[in-house]
Order: sequence, then structure tokens, then C-alpha cells
Amino acid sequence: MMKSVVSKEYQELQKRIVQLQEQWKQSINPETIRPSLDKAAMAAGMPAVSQTAIDFDISLFLQWIAELNQTLIANNPDLEPKLAAVVDVLTEETVIRWIEEAYSFNQIYFEKFADEHGVDQWIPPFLAETALRPYLQLTAEKVQPAITHGVPGAGCPVCGEPVRLAALEEEGKKVVHCPRCLAHWHARRLECSHCGNTDHEKIHFLTIEGDPVSQIQVCEECNGYIKIIDTRQYIEKPSAALMDLNSIHLDFVAQEHGYSSMDEKKQNS
Ligand SMILES: [Zn+2]
Ligand SMILES: [Zn+2]
Repeated sequence: MMKSVVSKEYQELQKRIVQLQEQWKQSINPETIRPSLDKAAMAAGMPAVSQTAIDFDISLFLQWIAELNQTLIANNPDLEPKLAAVVDVLTEETVIRWIEEAYSFNQIYFEKFADEHGVDQWIPPFLAETALRPYLQLTAEKVQPAITHGVPGAGCPVCGEPVRLAALEEEGKKVVHCPRCLAHWHARRLECSHCGNTDHEKIHFLTIEGDPVSQIQVCEECNGYIKIIDTRQYIEKPSAALMDLNSIHLDFVAQEHGYSSMDEKKQNS
């Protein structure tokens, strides 16, 4: 069955990391996150995080990276020397840079960093992004009451992550969820979150055999897709991060059919 594309082991590790992030979030002083949202900027699609002052606690950040490394090593002891090599070059200055670059998805910076320090390519952006998320998630909690809708093509109104996941909730309402910061907002059932297209003839749904709760909404206007999970039958609703992870088979199907969850605007810039 399609659902087995991701190994159980990988899923368990990801779940553990989601738990860690939840704990880490509790240790952030909420006063260090000060949103000051501008209506016009929000309407133009500027993410709320860009309008928020955050005092990052660098020692906390380093502690999280150490805990994350322990978790990764417990899962795969071969990683120990590779992770140690990264920790060795992690100065306070570097951490500040990592936070900035992870926030703006700067893959080029991280590739260069890995090359310069002779460390595995995936490690620096993975550590940086994982330790950044509790800050994004706490920001999302603070601003959530002001987040009523998304701007097509702008990604998540809180953190800017491209939209790729929505849930069908009570009364068939479509709620878009961000698996990165966990913000959520309502969207029209027949609207493309990437380009704003509402022409129902150009919006289609792909279904997955053996998976009655999932569908992929695709747009012929921009070739974008989002995954839609019907959570009405769920007794306990999974977090968006886990919902995204558990539905990764849908991303494979969508991408195999030539659709993308990246906004065209972002791809070209
Ligand atoms: Zn987000
Ligand atoms: Zn579209």
C-alpha cells in the first residue's frame, strides 16, 4: 500500500522530534516574542513573523541542538562523528546566522556552510530549521486570532511556508494548516491557495486508492497542489506536523503527476 513509502522508523523519529519541539516551545519566555502586525502588510502577504520582534535565546538554541543530536544519535549511532563535527563549528555568531537563514529558506547559504566546514549537506539546515520551529510555533499561537485567511501565492500568513496541507473539518469547512508553525486559517473549498484561481473547471481532485480520507487538490492554472485530509472521522485530531508527515505519500503522487506545492512566485525568485 502507498502509505509505506516512509519507514516506520523514520516516522517514529519524526514524532519524537515533534515532541521535543513541543517541550522546547514551553521553555521559551512568551515575552520575548512581540508581534506588531500591520494590516496592509498582512494583506500584501508579508508573513507575521517578519513583523515580529523575537529575542532569540542563543544558549537555549544550542541546548536544543544538543538534545536533537542525542535523539538522532540514539536512532543512528553512525551520525555521532558527523554531528560532532557540526557542533564544533557552532559559534554564537553562527547560530544567529543560522536562525536568519533558516527563517528565509536560504539553501544556498547552508550548502556553502556545509562545503566550507566539510560537514554533511543535510545537517546544518536540518538542525537550524528544527530548532527554529518552536519560535515560529509560539509566534503563531500569539497571532492566531488575527489570522483569518491566506493570501494566494504568499504561503503561510505566519511563517511564509508554501501551502501544502488542509483539513476538512466540521460542516465540510476547509481549513489550511501550516505544518511548520502550526498556524491555520479558513479557505474556500474551490480555491487554489497558490494562485487564487477559483475556476472550478480548472481545479481537480486526485484520490488515492485505499485511502478514503485523503485527496489532492490540483490546479491546472498554476500546476499547484495541496493535500486535503478529511479529519471529521478522527476522534483525536493529529497535529498538522504529523498530518503532513503521515500523508507524505500524497506528495509523491502529486509530484509524480507534475504538480508542485511551491508557489510559482517563490520558485522564480
Ligand atoms: Zn507557517
Ligand atoms: Zn493555482
